[in-house]
Amino acid sequence: MERKLIIAIDGPASSGKSSSAKILASRLHYVYIDTGAMYRACALCSLKRNIDLNDLSALTFMLADIRIDIRYAPDGNRLILNGEDVSERIREEDISRLSSQIATIGVVREKMVDLQRKLGEQGGVIMDGRDIGTVVFPHADIKFFLVADMKTRAKRRWIELEAKGLDPDLAEVEQEMIWRDKNDSNRAIAPLRRAHDAIEIDTGDLSLDDQVELLHEHIRSLQQ
Ligand code: C5P
Repeated sequence: MERKLIIAIDGPASSGKSSSAKILASRLHYVYIDTGAMYRACALCSLKRNIDLNDLSALTFMLADIRIDIRYAPDGNRLILNGEDVSERIREEDISRLSSQIATIGVVREKMVDLQRKLGEQGGVIMDGRDIGTVVFPHADIKFFLVADMKTRAKRRWIELEAKGLDPDLAEVEQEMIWRDKNDSNRAIAPLRRAHDAIEIDTGDLSLDDQVELLHEHIRSLQQ
């Protein structure tokens, strides 16, 4: 029987991680875990409870009984926060920014990393995020680091927002992304970094099909 791998995909926002991870997971019959969604759920939880992010004891209290469940589904996983399906709400722009802020906090990361390790340790998993190859699974079977130039990533995000019926401003989307990249790359704990042994792929000029095929080829070469 084929060994069930742990596949790590990291990279900045809109670099193509989740779109390729979803397709690959369904091809390989693996579970897809979007760790960004977990930080987003924490951010939403803090917002709902009106918690000041500087208040470590309130945050610790919140984390002690937070329940983040992923309901796996072929047409897209659902994120359940304390029993409520928040899959759509966590994608909104206010949560993008707040998730990047809450993700700088040590107690939050400890809790999320712990959950992520439990979800992935059996293998047969594709996990995407910012620190999967560096911190969560430094011994992952294969690691990818996806990149693309800022204009391409901002345009992708803009298209996503438009598809949701919003009226985004491209320059604002780009500014927000620059801020988030900087915040994610400069934080003290588990900053966004390419693991030394990660395969870097520039998705800027690749179609989604080509991107998935490229990743799949690397995975296949490992399984032979
Ligand atoms: O991937 P996504 O854009 O949904 O992630 C939202 C935020 O969560 C990121 O900007 C980042 O600050 C944080 N994050 C993280 N570590 C991960 C995944 C996401 O710090 N493994």
